[in-house]
Formats: sequence, structure tokens, C-alpha cells
Amino acid sequence: MYKVCPNCGIPSFKVIADAVLFNLNNTIQTPEKQNNWQICMNTKCDISYFSDKVHYTIKDLKHALFFKDESPNTFICYCSQITRGEIKEAVNQGCKNVKQVRDLLNKNNKCECKTKHPLGKCCCSSFDFEIKKELKNKPLIFKYNPQQ
Ligand SMILES: [Zn+2]
Repeated sequence: MYKVCPNCGIPSFKVIADAVLFNLNNTIQTPEKQNNWQICMNTKCDISYFSDKVHYTIKDLKHALFFKDESPNTFICYCSQITRGEIKEAVNQGCKNVKQVRDLLNKNNKCECKTKHPLGKCCCSSFDFEIKKELKNKPLIFKYNPQQ
């Protein structure tokens, strides 16, 4: 059952509370510790996490959301802090998969995507997407699959 974003009205996705609490700025002291958090996936909307009672914008987060911010400085892997620009550079140097990019950059931190990734999901699908985008050298639209 999808809920819609209170700002843009686009259907959103459920996010586990651990990921919400980790990704909100430390200056936000009392986020609701509850389990009905959603995230707005609309690339054009400034809302990040929301619940029935509160909503936050992208400015309330520690790091930019990879699907709302196309800049090269945006993290794709939040555990090892690998940016979109670093992935592009690694592909230009011949890397063709996630492992090769991680090895080249020597960024192989233990996976903590369940809390550190803003969706609370593994970064592997978006990481792979960025590599394929560079290999094909054409813009693609990232589609988040809630089943993964
Ligand atoms: Zn929205």
C-alpha cells in the first residue's frame, strides 16, 4: 500500500526507521521513533522522509539523495562514501563492475546499507546502474525496485 508525498502527491516508498534516524541531520534531535516512515522518490520534489505527523526536506539530511541530486559529488555507496564522479572516473579507467570500482578506489567498507543508505536498501542496484550508465555513455532514469 503506497502513501503519497504530502508535497508532490507522488506515491512514495516505505523506509525502515534505522535508515531514517541515521540519515537525518544530527541537529534534528527528536525524530519520531516509529515504523511508518516513507520517502518521496520524485526527483523534482524537495521532501525526503515523511510520516503521518512530520515531514523533512532534503536539507534535513546528512548527505544528498542520489536520485534527487545529479551532481558528481553525490554518494552512490554511502557505506564506503563512493561518489557518482568517482564511479564515472573508475569506469573511464576500465572498470566494468562494482567490485572493480571498489578495488580501484580501495573503498571496501563493510556493508551497512540497512542504516547508512538513505533507502535502507543495498546500494548495489544503483551502483550497478551508474556503471552501466557510464559504459553506455547515455543518460538513463534510475528505477527503484521496492522488491529488491
Ligand atoms: Zn514529494
